[in-house]
Amino acid sequence: MSTSFEQGISTLKKVIDAPIASYFSSCTNCGLCSRACIFFTETNDAKYVPIRKLEPMRRIWEQEYTLLGKLKKKVGLSKPVTEQELRDNVELTFESCTTCGRCSMMCPVGNDIVYMIRRMREGLTAAGLAPKELQESAVRTMETGSVMGFPMKTLQAMVDAAEKDTGIKINVDEPNVDYLLLLSSAEVMQFNEIIGALAKIFQQAGVTWTLSSTAHEAGNPGMHMGASDIEAQMIQRIVDAAEQLNVKNVISPECGHAYMAIRWEGPNVIGRPYPFKVYHIIEVLDKLRAEGKFETLCCDDERLTFHDPCQAARRGGVNQPQRNLLKQVSSNFVEMSDSQACNWCCGGGGGMNTIEKAAPLMKKVFHRKRRQIEELDVTTVVTMCATCRNTLEEGIEDNNMNVEVKGLTEIVADRLLKEKES
Ligand code: SF4
Ligand code: SF4
Repeated sequence: MSTSFEQGISTLKKVIDAPIASYFSSCTNCGLCSRACIFFTETNDAKYVPIRKLEPMRRIWEQEYTLLGKLKKKVGLSKPVTEQELRDNVELTFESCTTCGRCSMMCPVGNDIVYMIRRMREGLTAAGLAPKELQESAVRTMETGSVMGFPMKTLQAMVDAAEKDTGIKINVDEPNVDYLLLLSSAEVMQFNEIIGALAKIFQQAGVTWTLSSTAHEAGNPGMHMGASDIEAQMIQRIVDAAEQLNVKNVISPECGHAYMAIRWEGPNVIGRPYPFKVYHIIEVLDKLRAEGKFETLCCDDERLTFHDPCQAARRGGVNQPQRNLLKQVSSNFVEMSDSQACNWCCGGGGGMNTIEKAAPLMKKVFHRKRRQIEELDVTTVVTMCATCRNTLEEGIEDNNMNVEVKGLTEIVADRLLKEKES
């Protein structure tokens, strides 16, 4: 028996808390969580039933914390969890779960399955079994502050380009401003027009803002790994920068899991409240719109729909701001069949889009999103998460669909009235 296996089992025993015990004891095996999960609905494979993915943890709970389970273990009716079972569980909790939370929302007895999956991942990480891609991105983020390992000089080059392009001065490490803007690695690498787009919007709205040279990204692989200590260090870096700069607000980028980490989990993970507020960038834009701080041309008749990112919409509660903004810029916005809190996952979240072994299954489950898009006959899908955007673009290309994917911030920036008139 290896030491790391023992550490994994010991961690699983520790993370089984009162909520997890109540979830296992109240599960009626109704199977409704399976109908909520794309990995089951698109494969019909029973191994992807959400609650079943937690079988090793359920057995540990039963054997350690229930009288019946202790008796069953004693007479050999309940076998100890083996090293091979933990190894096999990596496929179920890391490579076929986006932590989208749809199963948790649908469970009739309120079992928060995604919470249990995160704790299961914690046990697997302690056993040294987290996928190497997540471990590597955690190391990169700890060393550079960037999930993809972009140093500050890469961001500075983006800032210089955006300043040249827009003619607007962009602050780095400017204290006492309204907003500290965080980015995602995907924005730095693929959607780097975002800085110029936001510079235009904030200038028209008359708000002050800055980037930070010590905390420029909000991505948090520690959250995907279920490694609370790594998650906490990544959040603390942002909190330190925001406190040193004395900003009133921190803006989470178009990245669902980053928003969940810094907005909802952060204070609990670091063990204290923040002296600033955290908003998703789309919440900030909608607030400025509602206050009349910026105007856009109304309206484009391009037929478009919106993909709600699981972490920002279903789990994070940001559902209306994106619709307010879309209705301001488009006269032809149509909802997907299941939208807002009920939206189906793109299939790439929870770290899955970085795990090579998960790629074939991701392609397969994308068919749910394909059907949702095709029934609307749209030309554009808009979203507000860089991971969703990447997954949608890849799925659309794989399926030869004639649909474009756009980020909402860029669409708003494109329609700025001032820009159009100049
Ligand atoms: S939906 Fe809830 S009660 Fe039903 S099987 Fe899944 S976890 Fe158990
Ligand atoms: S969190 Fe989402 S992907 Fe994971 S088991 Fe639940 S429904 Fe499936």
